[in-house]
This record gives sequence, C-alpha cells and structure tokens, in this order.
Amino acid sequence: MRRKKPKIQVEVTCDHCGDKTETFVSSYPDYLKFCRIHIPGKEPEKDCMSDYYKEKKNAKTLQKKKQRQSLFY
Ligand SMILES: [Zn+2]
Repeated sequence: MRRKKPKIQVEVTCDHCGDKTETFVSSYPDYLKFCRIHIPGKEPEKDCMSDYYKEKKNAKTLQKKKQRQSLFY
C-alpha cells in the first residue's frame, strides 16, 4: 500500500523584503536568498535579487558621489 506523502515545502525568508517564500533563488557568492516569482513567458512578478543588487549598486554610486563632493569642501 502506498500513501502519498505530503510535499515538503521549503520556506525561506527573503533577505531583501523579509517575506517568506517557497520560490526563491540563492545568490553567489553572498549566499543570500531572495524570493522570485516568475511565470515562464511573462515578466517576473517579483525578483528580489535584481532589486537587491540594483539598490546596492545605487547605494555605492551615491556613496561615491558623496565622497567626490566632500573633496570640494
Ligand atoms: Zn523578497
């Protein structure tokens, strides 16, 4: 007799938005987890990895700008 086992659902907490998600991606080399909801053939509904790195990049650019500005004081 075979019984169907309930599917084990892996839940992780997104390192970007803090939501719990079953569909996620891990980043390398930071080992962070991000939720990603993407239906094939459509635009990604949620892509926290892209958002996270975009924001990180923006923050760096802002810092650089600040540093450059401070040279003029
Ligand atoms: Zn997220």
